[in-house]
Amino acid sequence: MITRVDNVDILPGVGPKRLTALHELGIFTIEDLISYFPFRYEDLGERLPSETLDGDKVTFKGIVSAPPVVTRFGKKNQTRFGLLIARENIRITFFNQPWIAQNIDVGQEVAVYGTYNAAKAALTGMKMINASTDALDPIYPSSKQITAKTIRHLIELAWADIRGTLDSLVPIEIRTKYRLLDRNTQIESMHFPVDMTAAKAGRRSAAFEEFFIFQMRLQLLKLADQNFAGEGVVYDPSALGKFELSLPFKLTKAQKKVIAEILQDQKRARHMNRLLQGDVGSGKTVVAAMAMYAVVTAGMQAAIMAPTEILAQQHALNMAQLFENANIPLRVELLTSGLKVSARRQLLEDLVNGEIDILVGTHALLQPDVAFHHLGLAVIDEQHRFGVNQRAALRENGVNPDILAMTATPIPRTLSITAYGEMDVSVIDQLPSGRKEIKTTRMSHNQLDNAIAFVKNQIDVGAQAYIVTPLIEESESLDVQNATAMYEAMQLELPQYKIGLLHGRLSNEEKKKLMAEFKDNQIQILVATTVIEVGVDVPNATVMLILDADRFGLAQLHQLRGRVGRGSRQSYTILVADPKTDYGTARLDAMVETTNGFILAQKDLELRGSGDILGTKQSGVPEFMVGDPIKDLTMMEIAQQEAIKLVSEENWDRKPNNQALVDYLSRTMAHYRHFD
Ligand code: ADP
Ligand code: MG
Repeated sequence: MITRVDNVDILPGVGPKRLTALHELGIFTIEDLISYFPFRYEDLGERLPSETLDGDKVTFKGIVSAPPVVTRFGKKNQTRFGLLIARENIRITFFNQPWIAQNIDVGQEVAVYGTYNAAKAALTGMKMINASTDALDPIYPSSKQITAKTIRHLIELAWADIRGTLDSLVPIEIRTKYRLLDRNTQIESMHFPVDMTAAKAGRRSAAFEEFFIFQMRLQLLKLADQNFAGEGVVYDPSALGKFELSLPFKLTKAQKKVIAEILQDQKRARHMNRLLQGDVGSGKTVVAAMAMYAVVTAGMQAAIMAPTEILAQQHALNMAQLFENANIPLRVELLTSGLKVSARRQLLEDLVNGEIDILVGTHALLQPDVAFHHLGLAVIDEQHRFGVNQRAALRENGVNPDILAMTATPIPRTLSITAYGEMDVSVIDQLPSGRKEIKTTRMSHNQLDNAIAFVKNQIDVGAQAYIVTPLIEESESLDVQNATAMYEAMQLELPQYKIGLLHGRLSNEEKKKLMAEFKDNQIQILVATTVIEVGVDVPNATVMLILDADRFGLAQLHQLRGRVGRGSRQSYTILVADPKTDYGTARLDAMVETTNGFILAQKDLELRGSGDILGTKQSGVPEFMVGDPIKDLTMMEIAQQEAIKLVSEENWDRKPNNQALVDYLSRTMAHYRHFD
């Protein structure tokens, strides 16, 4: 007798090859197998030709009116017969299934499944339907190594033994409240539905179960995080106050609010896992500096990780500058992958000895030999640029420091309760005062001269400009502007100014030098690829000229625009493009219409559609087998509420009603795909 915890190779016909194929689909146990659900059903229920549209897949049932004829042509053959359905004669054709002819006689009642051709009153047969089979044929996601039919067969075998034996994972109280099926009925309705209504009910319950299990894991992760005996950071409030007073500006109300939230978290002897969201230019860096300084005043170290070398360099400079202004003797160091071996060795030694207070770096911080003396806080800047894996790696790096992840990307509700579900969220919902709204205009390429003239006028009054091009080098397609060509053209056009060229192929030293020169206004125009997309902060720059702007995504354009408008001068973004698609035009229109990052993120979701967002790993929405967290957002929210409620009950994991759930959570922990 098979049970749900057995491995799938207990089933007859599952040898090593099939076992590997099943493992690749995430199927290890019998329980995994019977939870491997069809993604759709073929409706084998019969219909009349008059109810059927051209091209539909349909089952026709009728009386054989003309005897089957098999015609051969080469290796191929076709079998034809007539079928009388409600006085209409339909011609049936099967390709390369000659044996069908043997089982068909005139006058016999048969049912055929196939594709309908209305104009010819014909059906291209796919299979003969046995009247006793179910009306719905489940279709399973399969692979090259294993067919949907084999999967179906294995499920039938397993189900024969374990049907009726499964305890429900979703507790009875919740199932009653939302009218959900018990687990046996749910699984039966998914694999062997009597009709579409049953299939839908099964799917609804299965989707809820899946969401609920996911949310339970998030909640347990969150609890584990919070209960982790993180140390309370005993920071020095008066030192922090002094630092705040030394800043070159007054913090906004929103910045003060999030700093208070962060300090509150840090103070508690619990692990912090917080996401800080604030639109480009809202001033997240200084918030990070405050949080890091707090940790340092408590005698610990802090680290900040940025997605690019340029950004890491800038942070290192900024931080050092901020503390120097405040007369705070603090050691800030930069660790990137470009560091020389000996310098790196020295730096790591100082780090582990506690001589470095704040370490700034790229993902080079995640290398296993990077050990701190006492790391109290890890900040992740532009967190959306890092994968969940890297987020986890930083946490596992020896100690378990408090985490502050920062992002400019507004988090749609779907993401905040899935991808970031285990994190607390703080939002900076205002820009520093005195900022003028960035003016955004569109131009076609033949107006480029006007755009250049505009850049010249801005530089003449003391400002600076970025010119961004999509590709680094000449590509096959001649219509692509490239940075080098643009740089050369600009040197000819505006010889009176110093122009820089920045792209990803430069060495760290070269990049560093260029950025420093641009920051000091020794360079007036920086021609760059998207390496400057995130984080770069030069408040004196007022023009962002983007060439072939329709080649960029909306989020990217918004980030690029965020490089200007950082000071009190009026700033401008000029989008140069001749978009060839409606989608391209729509993105540019959206940019001209609003500078609000949240509205743009919504717009981006709409323009791309939920299908694509699920498809692109970038979006970070976890994938589910049955439910769609974008379409079924309400259900996901309910699952979250119920999971929060359940884990807040005392001894919830000892109650008999919850035992099946507790067992399931612990036995499936090992290969749970959402938390790899
Ligand atoms: P982001 O949130 O995009 O990372 P930054 O931290 O780079 O933004 O800040 C953008 C610019 O605004 C920087 O030049 C920074 O010094 C400045 N800034 C930050 N906070 C304030 C404030 N409260 N008042 C004025 N300027 C500020
Ligand atoms: Mg930033």
